[in-house]
Formats: sequence, C-alpha cells, structure tokens
Amino acid sequence: MSYFSISNVSKSYDHQPALHPFSLELKKGEFLAIVGESGSGKSTLLKIMAGLEVQDAGEVFLESMPILNPNQKIVSGYDEIRLIHQHLHLYPNSTVEENISRQLLHYEKSYAKSRVEHLLQLLGLSDFRDRFPRQLSGGQKQKVAIGKAMAVEPDVLLLDEPFSSLDSIQTHHLISELKEIFREFGTTVIFVTHDLDDALRLTDNLIILQKGKVVQKGTSRQLCEKPKTKYVAQLFSPINKLPDTKNSYVRPADVQLRTKGGLLAHVTDSRFLVHFNSLQVKLKESGITWEVDDSQRKYTVGDRVYLNWDNSKLMNL
Ligand code: ADP
Ligand code: MG
Repeated sequence: MSYFSISNVSKSYDHQPALHPFSLELKKGEFLAIVGESGSGKSTLLKIMAGLEVQDAGEVFLESMPILNPNQKIVSGYDEIRLIHQHLHLYPNSTVEENISRQLLHYEKSYAKSRVEHLLQLLGLSDFRDRFPRQLSGGQKQKVAIGKAMAVEPDVLLLDEPFSSLDSIQTHHLISELKEIFREFGTTVIFVTHDLDDALRLTDNLIILQKGKVVQKGTSRQLCEKPKTKYVAQLFSPINKLPDTKNSYVRPADVQLRTKGGLLAHVTDSRFLVHFNSLQVKLKESGITWEVDDSQRKYTVGDRVYLNWDNSKLMNL
C-alpha cells in the first residue's frame, strides 16, 4: 500500500470545477512537484490534502489514517501534514528560536530543545536565533517558516509557492538547501509552483496541472521530449512550428544552423544569453519567425542562415 494516497478528489466552487477528479500515490520520502499556471487548482488541491478544505468527492489517506476535512473534524488540519504558503504566519514579537520552539510546547523539554537546536543548525539560522522576523531577509523568514513546520516532524510537507517573494537566485539556493534537509528527515514533499525551473531544483518527478486537470505526469525528461500538449512543451522552451504542417514543432536547441543547405532564413534579432545567442530568424518562404539557439555565437542580424533538424526531434502537438 502506498504511503500518502489521494483518490478521486474533486472540488467545484459555485458549480465551476476548480479540481477535476485527481488521484495520486506517493511513497514515503518521495518528492513531487505539481506545476500549473495561476488558477489551475494547485492551492485547492493542497488544502484538501492537508484536511483544510472540504472536497466534493474523494478521499485522502496517510498510511491507514483517513484525512478528515473541516466538516468532519473539529480542529482542522494535522500535525502529520503541514502546508506552507507564501504568507508566512511568523510571530512578529517572538525571536527566530521562539518561533520554532513555540511549536513544541507540548513536547518533553529536553527533546524540544535538541530538536530546535538541530533545526536552527540545519537551516543555517543559529546566528540569527535572537532576531525578530522584521530583522530577517525574505529567505531567512522563509527558513523560519519551514523550521516551524518541520518542528513537529511532519510526515508530509506541502509547499504552496512559498518562495514567490524571493528572487530566483535566492529561491534556487534555498530549494537546494531544503532538499538536503527534507532528505535527512525522510519527509515526503509536494511542491506546487507555476515555475518549472523552481520545480526542477527539487525533483524531476512532475505533474502538470491545467484548469484543474492533470495534463501529463512523468519525469522532466519524458515531459520535455514527449510532451502531450503545446502547453507542456512550452513550459520547457519556446517551440517553432514547421511551415506547411498542421502540428509539427521543433525546439530552438534542436535546430542546427549552417551556412548552406537547409531551410533558408535571415537573422532579425540576436540576444546574448549565458550559454548561447538566442536568434530570431525569419523563414524566407513562409515568412514565419523562429527562435533558434546559436551555440557558437556565429551569426549576427542580417545574416543568411540555413536551418536543419533531425526528424526524430519533431514534436507533434
Ligand atoms: P492556483 O493555486 O493554481 O492558482 P486555486 O486552487 O487557488 O488555483 O484556484 C482554482 C480555481 O478555483 C480558480 O478559478 C479560483 O478562482 C477558484 N477558487 C479557489 N478558491 C475559491 C473560493 N474559496 N471560492 C471561489 N472560488 C475559488
Ligand atoms: Mg495558489
């Protein structure tokens, strides 16, 4: 039997489906990222998983324990399943250390003390233990919120776009650090985000959600190489439509540029990116504009270029 299981959970608001029947089985310690644009039902799903929202149908189980929703349980939510979102709920007049240790008031004192020490150290917050939330950076505040949630040793941690207030460098750094901590504690983690890049920092076990429905699930490689829809394909990179085809596309990185032989185009724009120049090229025959990667940084605006690709790289979407 799986560890955390969601079976056919669905939810509508005012007869508008926010989440179509959704099922999932996770093993203990597994990480999963759910990626979807705003309004795709991510927060609704996580709240149901945490027992914080009433679903229309379906069930959630943690091992053999049914997760009861707020209609079925007087105090909603569970210590075993913690939801962290963008709004942090730190105690403003408590220090970092107090914020974390307040979660453990009902625990034996020496245990609570060592747990707090361990978390402060793992999260790199030992030097900030006496500061108040207002004296911390965005990333440090996020860590305190995660420390609070981890204090009670949750089995499942649900992250609802908790890093939206951080810049992408901070976010990527924090996710790498947290990943180690989640591994150490054997925590099962579900991370929802609109940002595929952030998701991939944590795991390559992905579910893509659109308008409340799962459009595809699999590894990042499977989704990148064999996307089922244009939406999934475009999460990974822009895509170029082949002229005179109904639905064949190629990625910028899969187009080879030559000085002769192939589909003729002219370079109309060039941007210097870290690993290559990204070119806009206008196809001679069809007039369509493509985006292609110039990995050798060889072409400039106005140049002629001939485009080639391997048919095995084409995506029919
Ligand atoms: P996401 O987290 O992916 O942005 P949400 O789960 O918040 O998506 O919302 C999914 C859909 O459900 C949206 O169309 C949203 O407007 C609607 N919705 C969410 N919560 C409520 C609510 N409490 N009342 C009415 N509609 C809601
Ligand atoms: Mg949301």
